Amino acid sequence: MTATIIDGKAIAAALRLRVGEQVGRWKAEHGLTPGLAVVLVGEDPASQVYVGSKARQTVECGMKSFEHRLPATTSQAELLAVVARLNADPQVHGILVQLPLPKHISENAVLEAIDPAKDVDGFHPVNAGRLATGKPNLVPCTPLGCIALAKTVHPRLDGLDAVVVGRSNIVGKPVAQLLLIENCTVTIAHSRSRDLPAICRRADILVAAVGRPLMITRDWVKPGATVIDVGINRIDASGKSRLVGDVDFTGVMEVAGAVTPVPGGVGPMTIAMLLNNTVTAAAGIHGLEVPKLF
Ligand code: NDP
Repeated sequence: MTATIIDGKAIAAALRLRVGEQVGRWKAEHGLTPGLAVVLVGEDPASQVYVGSKARQTVECGMKSFEHRLPATTSQAELLAVVARLNADPQVHGILVQLPLPKHISENAVLEAIDPAKDVDGFHPVNAGRLATGKPNLVPCTPLGCIALAKTVHPRLDGLDAVVVGRSNIVGKPVAQLLLIENCTVTIAHSRSRDLPAICRRADILVAAVGRPLMITRDWVKPGATVIDVGINRIDASGKSRLVGDVDFTGVMEVAGAVTPVPGGVGPMTIAMLLNNTVTAAAGIHGLEVPKLF
C-alpha cells in the first residue's frame, strides 16, 4: 500500500485565495481592509525569511502589511512601547511578534502585552484559555493548519483515536485541544511517555511535533493511519544539507493511509492560517460574522 501525500502547498494556496476573496468582499461592502503588523527584533536569518514571506503573502491577499524591524539591542521597554502603539492603531487588526526574541527580553511579557483581540498567533493566555475551555477564538496557526490538513482526509474527525507526540504550548497542546474539540479520543505523548511506538500504533491520526529527525518509523504507524508531520529538522546527508520531518516519510508511506511531506506539508499552512487569523481578528474587532474559510 502507498499512502496519499497530503499536499499542504496546494491546500494553503487555496486557503490564501479564499482569504483574498473575503478581503475583497469586505473592502467592497464595508470599506474595511484588514491589516497585519509583524515585529522582528534582531537579524536572525531564518526569522528574516519568515517575516519577508509573511509580508509578501499578506499584501498578495489584499491586506495591509506593517513591518517593524528593530535592532537586536532594542530594550524590552522599547518593544513594549511598539506593541502598545500597534494595540492602539485602528489600521492594525493582527499583531505578530516573531519569536525567538533576544535573551534580554521576556517573551512572556511581550506576548501578554498584545491585545488578545489582535493576537493572531493565539499565544496570549486569554486565547490559550479560550481554546482550553473549548471556546476558541484566535488559535495558534500551525495547530490550525494540522487540523485543516487532517480534515482533507477525514471531513469528520468524530470518534477517531488521535495521538499527538509533543506537548509544547505552541504546537502539541493546542493541536491536542483542537482534536478534542473535534471529538477525537486524544492521547498526548512526550519525552517521558513509556512505549511510544505502542502508543503511536493506536492512532488513526498521528501528529508528530517533536523536533527529532525521522523518529517515527513505519513500525510505529497503524496501517491506514493519517500522519501529520510538524517537525522541521535540518540534517546532513551525503555532504548535503536537507530538511526532514519527525517522520521517516519513505518508510511510513508504505503503511499509512495519508502523510504530510516535509517540506510542503504543515509548513505552508502556518502562514495561510496567519492570514486566516487576521481575517478572524478583523471580524471580531468590527463586530462582523467570522467567515469560515476552511
Ligand atoms: P518543543 O521543543 O517546544 O517541544 C518538543 C516536544 O517534543 C516536547 O513536548 C518534548 O517532550 C517532546 N519530545 C522531545 N523528545 C522526545 C522523544 N524522544 N519522545 C517523545 N517526545 C519527545 O518543540 P515545538 O513544539 O516548538 O516544535 C516541534 C517541531 O515542530 C520542531 O521540529 C519545530 O521546528 C517544528 N515546528 C514547525 C512549525 C511549522 O510551521 N511547520 C511551527 C512550529 C514548530 P517534553 O515536553 O517532555 O520535553
